[in-house]
Amino acid sequence: MKVRRGILDIRSVKTLPFFSVITALFLVLIASCFLFNGCTALKEAQQEREARLKKKKDARHLMMEPSKSEPTVAADAQKAESEHYTLAFADDLKGHEKFDELRERRDFALSALGYMESVYDEMNAVFGFQPEHKIHVTLHAVYNGTTRVASTTTQYNYESVGNTTLKVVTGIKMDYPLAMYEKPGVRVHELTHAFTNIYFLPTWFNEGIAVLMQTEWAKGGLHPKFDSLQRNLKRNMAGENDLEDWASHGGDPKLTDWRYRYAYTIVSELRKRYGADFYIKVFRLMEADQLHNKLPSKMPTIFLVYYLSQAAGVDLVPFFTELAFNVHKLTKEEILQNINQMNR
Ligand SMILES: [Zn+2]
Repeated sequence: MKVRRGILDIRSVKTLPFFSVITALFLVLIASCFLFNGCTALKEAQQEREARLKKKKDARHLMMEPSKSEPTVAADAQKAESEHYTLAFADDLKGHEKFDELRERRDFALSALGYMESVYDEMNAVFGFQPEHKIHVTLHAVYNGTTRVASTTTQYNYESVGNTTLKVVTGIKMDYPLAMYEKPGVRVHELTHAFTNIYFLPTWFNEGIAVLMQTEWAKGGLHPKFDSLQRNLKRNMAGENDLEDWASHGGDPKLTDWRYRYAYTIVSELRKRYGADFYIKVFRLMEADQLHNKLPSKMPTIFLVYYLSQAAGVDLVPFFTELAFNVHKLTKEEILQNINQMNR
């Protein structure tokens, strides 16, 4: 069985320096209240401040509509299941002080699944589709020798249909060291992979979308945007954009950080130009064509640029050429011919 992986490099969740600004504004408003001899302004300022703080708190903790899903918990509470997930505790958590009592495991599982179902519903609304398979989540004390990397794996098989070989997704699993599960932004990043991995996207685009969701939707981003794509361009040995070389994780941490940031900056820039529903359109076009299932490996950037251009209604080859990607304009017929050649 072939396995494709999305792995995240993680540090701490960023918090916003709003308090100092809010406090300063509040003091100014108190001063103006006394100056203009009325306490309505003070009361309104207090209400506004409370509303702002509530909004900030909600954004940080992702408090959403409670899910309608009713999870079921196994008798020993080592496993639990809801509409879109299963949740299990790995062996290395069995002696953990937070999970060594049945009641602790049950309460945690019910709360975690309720929360993850809410995020799932929101994500479904953002993307306009959902993966076909349940997501099997395992919590670990340590995963793959670290407490700092969560991982989403989409498993698939090759199946022959007529004279074509198709990739068929067979399952999705997520592994979280406990320290990573506790970060809401990381959960959103990984869930984005669970949604978009089914399209076998280029690594840079997959990670760019995940950081976009983590940063702009969950407010938990760790990879700030660059202010200029041109000035921050890095090239590989062949003189092309280094993102073209991003196939797996690991390697030089400085380069990896640049890759996350640069990929996010591209994805964010395109959404800014072509609208909040731009990526919904892109995924709808991919879904309608079903070409991704015929690819022998990940989607090359040149195919992705075809879909981005279709969704934008503008030829985006010049945009990507300026950023040193090795792309040119293709028609759908040419893409199909290329896929047939790759599969020979
Ligand atoms: Zn990732």
